[in-house]
Amino acid sequence: MFFDPLYLLIILPGVLLALYASLKVKSSFARASAIPSQAGWTGGQVAQAILDAEGIADVQIEPVQGYLSDHYDPRAKVLRLSPDVYRGRSLAAAGVAAHEVGHAIQHAHGYGPLAVRNAVVPVASIGSSLSWVFIIIGIGMALQTLAIIGCALFTLVVIFQVVNLPVEFNASRRARQVLLVNGIVGTDEDHEIGRVLNAAAMTYVAATLTAILTLLYYLWRSGLLGGRRD
Ligand SMILES: [Zn+2]
Repeated sequence: MFFDPLYLLIILPGVLLALYASLKVKSSFARASAIPSQAGWTGGQVAQAILDAEGIADVQIEPVQGYLSDHYDPRAKVLRLSPDVYRGRSLAAAGVAAHEVGHAIQHAHGYGPLAVRNAVVPVASIGSSLSWVFIIIGIGMALQTLAIIGCALFTLVVIFQVVNLPVEFNASRRARQVLLVNGIVGTDEDHEIGRVLNAAAMTYVAATLTAILTLLYYLWRSGLLGGRRD
């Protein structure tokens, strides 16, 4: 009932960028995975060294299953690193580990956008799972109020994606800085790590673009933007 080729056309720039970014992540990660770091530390050791250098003593580091499943859990104050990163001694492992520690540093320093992101996460996930139901029923039954509620719910998803951008860019910037300042990597190594982290950042830009284009499409279909044509 709601499959619209026009929707695919509208979000196409976001989809293409996401595709390009994911290829970039895979290729840059594979490339940096094949380069052993000169310091010879595992990702787990890199993460611990950065935490020590930053004076953060209450964050635990644990291995977690999965490919690129690395994340910092602010509630448990646990840094979870995937096997390749936790045990790996490559530049890719050092870069990803440092990025995740970047989030732990943001948390320890009360970095504003991270607090906003964490606050928005639960409502954004409700928004993402419920918005389209309201919009489909609202448009299908010509009940504009329902469509407006759906658009408002999806706006939460867009807010999350937008707030996520400074959080991710800042974590990568902190990561590269802290690796260089502490002599964990050299300038050439930093350049390689930058390729991986920039590619990862591009996936977040693609997700944000897709969310914004989707919201514009919803608004237009709901007759809230440029009038309805059906
Ligand atoms: Zn991140």
